[in-house]
Amino acid sequence: MNAPAIRIRDLWVNFNHVPALEDINLDIREGSYVGILGPNGAGKSTLLKVILGLIPPSQGEVLVFGENPRKLRLAGSLIGYLPQKPLSNPRFPVSVLDVVLMGRYGRIGLCRRPSRRDVEIARENLARLGILPLAERPIGELSGGEQQRVFIARALCLEPRLLVLDEPTISLDACAQDDLYELVHGFKEEMNLTVLIVSHDIGAVARHVDDVVCLNRRVHVHEPPPIGRLALESTFGCSVEYLFHGEIPHRVVRRDE
Ligand code: ADP
Repeated sequence: MNAPAIRIRDLWVNFNHVPALEDINLDIREGSYVGILGPNGAGKSTLLKVILGLIPPSQGEVLVFGENPRKLRLAGSLIGYLPQKPLSNPRFPVSVLDVVLMGRYGRIGLCRRPSRRDVEIARENLARLGILPLAERPIGELSGGEQQRVFIARALCLEPRLLVLDEPTISLDACAQDDLYELVHGFKEEMNLTVLIVSHDIGAVARHVDDVVCLNRRVHVHEPPPIGRLALESTFGCSVEYLFHGEIPHRVVRRDE
């Protein structure tokens, strides 16, 4: 059997002696589409940051494609990352194409000019995300969903083997969320990517991914959907307002919400 894309053994991460992650053991198969579910403060972003080589484990071992993640990060280009808030100033006066080209800097170096091939790759990724007609528009004029696609195109420009998305659907309506999961699934297949997608939207994750990791400081479950109510409740630490129709959990929205 192939080595996993991500291998985590006995991982602890402490902040000021308080554990944010406790004794995590996890293998993520190469080519899989994995949802990481958990409530706020569960350590989801912390886990991603360890995988991205941005923070070191306090204890334990993490290998990404057999390498130390920090080493991978310094080497440049195997991991594409979409942070929770990719754009701090949406009025920033740059075009969509410029934003996507920034994704090539991991490969071409910060001070070098992008080549014609870099521009081609940027445009290919805009087309893959269905937003090539927006290439010359200022990024700030785009809707939240369109901006999200621009930043995914930017992450893909690195030609990564692993794509990490931190709450990418948080500002999208339900239809746009489904579209995004489907889109990610499409280019995952096409580019043979491993995808990690963090969410607290149980229903959406259960519909779209191959495997779910339920995290609340510890890993409570790591298995393919459907995930049962007990597992969800032990992860979220409260009774979860979901109905199970057949295999898929659906959120129950109260009338006065
Ligand atoms: P999630 O992404 O699931 O909402 P986080 O990984 O952001 O959770 O945070 C997990 C816990 O670790 C929280 O209690 C948070 O306050 C704490 N934490 C995260 N980053 C830091 C940091 N840099 N310094 C101190 N505490 C932190």
